[in-house]
Amino acid sequence: MRLLFMGPPGAGKGTQAVRLSEKLGVAHVSTGDIFRANVSEQSELGQAAQRYMDAGEYVPDEVTNAMVRDRLGQGGAQVGFILDGYPRTLDQVDTLDSILTDLGTALDGVISLKVESEELIQRLFKRAETSGRADDSEQVIRHRQDVYTAETVPLLDVYRDRGLLIEIDGLGEVDEIAERISAALAKVKA
Ligand code: AMP
Repeated sequence: MRLLFMGPPGAGKGTQAVRLSEKLGVAHVSTGDIFRANVSEQSELGQAAQRYMDAGEYVPDEVTNAMVRDRLGQGGAQVGFILDGYPRTLDQVDTLDSILTDLGTALDGVISLKVESEELIQRLFKRAETSGRADDSEQVIRHRQDVYTAETVPLLDVYRDRGLLIEIDGLGEVDEIAERISAALAKVKA
């Protein structure tokens, strides 16, 4: 299976994407995780990405696209993958289309986790108390929601028009949401 996971910051997409990738036995590719790993190693990529991440901005498309092309080109992802947090811009959608064409493959579905905005902001405040993430301050949390609305929400229509969008209510317990995702995917496969 080749799936995308989309959803605003704090919707719980990382948690669900990891669970589902383990269940399906496919690679979990999170651009946020790859960027964070590079920041802690202080690699060239990490240095290029850090100031954008800390400010709650998107890392420039050319940097992100090159990283994803490289990652999906590696063997593991050919069995299947869940892309978590990519694409986030229309330019990234075009690049992903071209990567998949080059690999001779296509997406099976796009899971969109839906959670109302104030609920999300409250969740992120809670996460900020424990995470120590530099992008978890109040101002940055609000800014990340605005960037998501402006840059990423339009992608939902693109994938809806392609008949790939699977919308999931993201409010509730982790297990409950995982169940909803599995049930929706069973229908896609059927
Ligand atoms: P995440 O953990 O998915 O919320 O990502 C954390 C941060 O990494 C984001 O706020 C962005 O700064 C950066 N990032 C992750 N994925 C992307 C992407 N597809 N495009 C641009 N920036 C990204």
